[in-house]
Amino acid sequence: MFSNWQNWRRERILRKSRIDKDLWKQSCSQIRAIAHLSPADLERLRDLASLFLHEKSIEPAGELVLTEIMAVRIACGACIPILNLKFEDYNHWHSVILYPDEFVTRHENVDENGVVHVDRDAYSGEAWDSGPVILSWQNIVAGEPGSNVIIHEMAHKLDLLDGVANGRPPLHRDMDQAIWAKELSDAYEMHVAQVEAGEGTVIDAYAAENPAEFFAVVSEVFFESAHVLKRQWPAVYEQLAQYYRQHPAGYR
Ligand SMILES: [Zn+2]
Repeated sequence: MFSNWQNWRRERILRKSRIDKDLWKQSCSQIRAIAHLSPADLERLRDLASLFLHEKSIEPAGELVLTEIMAVRIACGACIPILNLKFEDYNHWHSVILYPDEFVTRHENVDENGVVHVDRDAYSGEAWDSGPVILSWQNIVAGEPGSNVIIHEMAHKLDLLDGVANGRPPLHRDMDQAIWAKELSDAYEMHVAQVEAGEGTVIDAYAAENPAEFFAVVSEVFFESAHVLKRQWPAVYEQLAQYYRQHPAGYR
């Protein structure tokens, strides 16, 4: 529930800075993950995206020239997972850094002998604990059906709300932690076994990296290709529907 003060503040922001209707339509028409939303849901999403643009900064990196359409598309994508959660779930971070294409990040790992290894890998997205979300515009527009780098990184941000990236965001009171743990870990282990056996997988093999990546990838599939997830792992679909409080596969 929002306090009256929060409501009043939001209404004030929206009166001044609600995203223009035509700009909204133009920016979000290509987003598959909003297909299940009703006109009323889309209006609420527009309000959340307007708040997102007001509260967060989107910073272009490299050669990227940021346009209004790009900013609105990112805000729309970022708010899909929190449509029925709280905007405050994104309070612990403030900026999106947007690269034109995949970016190279330097990661340091210390092995068991205390030796520091430096890896340089190309990424399409990254979410830092309490820090920025980093995205690649090319990966946003060229995402294959079933994949969505913005939703992926937002799922990591929600997962990190309790301070640990373990594939379990703080669940609602009416959810059962044990059921979540069982259904997601059963599906994760099945997926890892298929990847290790070199079998084809329904969801991206990258989800076998660890439980946090599994949650981020199944969240992409949940919003992008809900029926695929529901067919493959109905219990995982159900847990995500309870957590996100959305039913992208409909109620039948
Ligand atoms: Zn990830």
